[in-house]
Amino acid sequence: MALAIFVIFVFVTGASVGSFLNVSIARLPLEKSLLWPNSRCGACLQSIHWYDNLPLISYFILRGRCRTCRQHYSITYFLVELGTALGFVALFWLEAVQNVHGWPGHGAFSRLGNIPGTSWFGFAWHALLFSFLIVASVCDLRSREIPLHLTLTGTAIGLIGSVLMPWPWPQSLDGINTNPALPLRQGVYPWPVWLPIPAWCDGPGTWQTGLATGLIGALVGTFLLRAIGFLFSKGLGKEALGLGDADLMMMAGSFLGWQIVVVAFFLSVFPALLFGIIQLVVRKDNSLPFGPSLSLSVMATCLAWQPIGNAARPYLFAGEMLIYAAVGGAGLLFVMAFLLKLMRRPEEPQP
Ligand SMILES: [Zn+2]
Repeated sequence: MALAIFVIFVFVTGASVGSFLNVSIARLPLEKSLLWPNSRCGACLQSIHWYDNLPLISYFILRGRCRTCRQHYSITYFLVELGTALGFVALFWLEAVQNVHGWPGHGAFSRLGNIPGTSWFGFAWHALLFSFLIVASVCDLRSREIPLHLTLTGTAIGLIGSVLMPWPWPQSLDGINTNPALPLRQGVYPWPVWLPIPAWCDGPGTWQTGLATGLIGALVGTFLLRAIGFLFSKGLGKEALGLGDADLMMMAGSFLGWQIVVVAFFLSVFPALLFGIIQLVVRKDNSLPFGPSLSLSVMATCLAWQPIGNAARPYLFAGEMLIYAAVGGAGLLFVMAFLLKLMRRPEEPQP
């Protein structure tokens, strides 16, 4: 019973947050204030009454039309609210109920709704990142642009969180393993910046360790994408990745640390292929924004970090191997981009 109430609470919260995300999606690309003025119809500019602005419900009651001018408004509003609500529920279920990260304090009764406060907080933290990623993805889909305001704000919030929740929080420091050869306990920031923890970080659980985790995460996120974008555009002779994608991964890095960002970047190939095929079939159009694939991959990698991280751990903390992998990977990417350029047929001349 208690659990059902929690799930409903999380769903309603998600739908309400989604309603606010809709405002952000409409206004951030135009650099307008999020708080003022209140919501208006895009066609007749009439204020929307609160009872016509209820998440999910109002779309059904009004059948997707403005009450005053009867103009249709986009179903995107409804889909964002539904997507946010369902995403929140899925995140809550996996993190706070199923406890996929192995966070502490989940006893035998956790399935009855006895969820530790720290897990509520960890879930809320990842739900915040998820919300930022939804706005970034929908903006990217609509206008092929991710607002810099959004990703910079997200990165700043991520860095604050990294200081407040240094690895291994909320895990206990007693007997915490810091040997990368053995399985690691996962915190809200899943892993520390490096193992062994650098001396100037003063061990696990300090604000220095936390800040280093968030800061290096943000830097790796942005430079990885910029470097790959640069190599691809040199090899391919045209723009391959937008700067918005690099900003998006900077934000993700400040919330999750560099390891997840690197792995999520490589795994984003799979959603990108899937979206690419759907796009080709449905819209006969091959221009594809990368933001949604990166976002999906970041969230999935975070949720599956227990198995993925454990498999990747020996490589991710081996300094020399990382350098060889980076150099080798960069060379391979350049060659691939160059081959793609050779294989591509010349553009059809315009009539
Ligand atoms: Zn109207």
